[in-house]
Amino acid sequence: MEKPERLIVDGKRLDGRAPDELRPLRIKAGVLKRADGSAYVELGRNKILAAVYGPREMHPRHLQQPDTAVLRCRYNMAPFSVEERKRPGPDRRSVEISKVAREALEPVVFLELYPRAAIDVFIEVLQADAGTRTTGITAAAVALADAGIPMRDLVAAVAVGKVDGTIVLDLTSEEDQWGTTDMPVAIMPRKKLITLLQMDGHFTGEEFRQALSLAFKGCEQIYEAQKQALRERYSVKREEGE
Ligand code: ADP
Repeated sequence: MEKPERLIVDGKRLDGRAPDELRPLRIKAGVLKRADGSAYVELGRNKILAAVYGPREMHPRHLQQPDTAVLRCRYNMAPFSVEERKRPGPDRRSVEISKVAREALEPVVFLELYPRAAIDVFIEVLQADAGTRTTGITAAAVALADAGIPMRDLVAAVAVGKVDGTIVLDLTSEEDQWGTTDMPVAIMPRKKLITLLQMDGHFTGEEFRQALSLAFKGCEQIYEAQKQALRERYSVKREEGE
């Protein structure tokens, strides 16, 4: 796509959103029968599935830790998730995102309860439209909770950035591509702690403060939707007598 002349017209973004507005968000917990925990998240045009397996015995054994479980995370984009077919398999970007997603989730999981175990988190991007690392983390946190793994808090994540000189919440891929700054943020909403913060581009100090506060506001909304998805999941379980 060619660069549009302007990304914000009369205070509205190309998709009609206000600068501080999230894309439509839908979260469903417990969507995969064979995973211990799972979640499906749509945020605008992003469609992301997260699956959790474990805690289970760590293989290969030499990776076992005697006093803690190990959280492993794999972020993967389906070949059909982007406009041009993405070459299947890991690349530098997915290895990096797998690492930062693991680091964003680790602080909330009581890993010390499961010595020698592995907890595996798979984040599968079915359709991508920017913000897939943050949406993947949002999905993975719900999947971990759905697996019944003891957690201190959830993790909610969203990207903020600067587009046409305006600080905006939840960038689309056009905004990511043509904007000047993209800052993915993940937080533990109850404790208000940051577990991921990356930045591509520049902010002044004041812009950074404004962007971070917008990220917290966005994460609060995401957190409410995460809790609602888990509540729905458990009420269905009770009805089914599971
Ligand atoms: P995030 O998805 O977390 O925002 P990036 O900033 O690296 O991560 O990517 C932004 C967007 O660029 C992705 O969500 C996707 O829409 C697009 N993208 C990423 N990798 C590819 C790729 N290999 N081919 C086409 N589009 C891609």
